[in-house]
Amino acid sequence: MLRRSLLSALLAVALGAAAGLEAEEGPAPGPVRVIGSNASGCIAGAVQLPAQGPGFQEIRISRSTFWGHPRTVADIELLAREAKEAGLPDLYINDIAAPRGGPIASHAGHQLGLEADIWLDVTPKPVLSPAERDALEPPSVVAPDGRSVDPAIWRPEHATLLRLAAQLPDVDRIFVHPAIKRELCDTAGGDRRWLRLIRPWYGHASHFHIRFRCPAEQPECMGATAPVPPGDGCDATLQWWFDQLGRPAAPAAPPPPPPAACLAIWAAPER
Ligand SMILES: [Zn+2]
Repeated sequence: MLRRSLLSALLAVALGAAAGLEAEEGPAPGPVRVIGSNASGCIAGAVQLPAQGPGFQEIRISRSTFWGHPRTVADIELLAREAKEAGLPDLYINDIAAPRGGPIASHAGHQLGLEADIWLDVTPKPVLSPAERDALEPPSVVAPDGRSVDPAIWRPEHATLLRLAAQLPDVDRIFVHPAIKRELCDTAGGDRRWLRLIRPWYGHASHFHIRFRCPAEQPECMGATAPVPPGDGCDATLQWWFDQLGRPAAPAAPPPPPPAACLAIWAAPER
């Protein structure tokens, strides 16, 4: 964290010299305010998930950011408690959002404090030091050909974890590798309602991504443009992903410019 603070301070000085602004590092003070979209937005009044708690540990602490809407943090803590009660080991929690949202490295989203990455690692684990957690590279649960989960790694506990996540309040959708979705489709049994929110997407072979809905009291928050379709998603739309294997993904559209209100939030002094 110290190295990050130093880098941020240097960056703030450089940005300030260039733009007459000083970038602030902590959360923007004031009431919670979520502005823009997952791909281009920000948050004021964010809160930080603790480095560890009942049923979870953050990983890659020096490289990642763990700030979010208070409801996001509460929902992650709830998932960790429910997983623990279900007999699962500690969850590894990765990126949520930067203290004031906005772009963070290696993510197109994660800009509003309404998303979180959780590793698909259900092996029993001790509490590790932050430095040890920095070095973790949890393995993919998907077979090398991308058509199924890896039977040597996939366990029923993975499905339990994804079901608990999909049943959290406030979830808009969850992204997983298509092979994971197919495995869940094949093994879910009778209660399939929770499968609807589990959506196939590129990557996501070693972690899953939760996107929470815009809180009702946040009129400046722009939710998903298309609702999740009805049904369990175990149909031709899932097969489409396997037909695409080996083809390059369509290039992502460049993100829209941030809302003007975010510029003020990023420049606001800390309380
Ligand atoms: Zn993510």
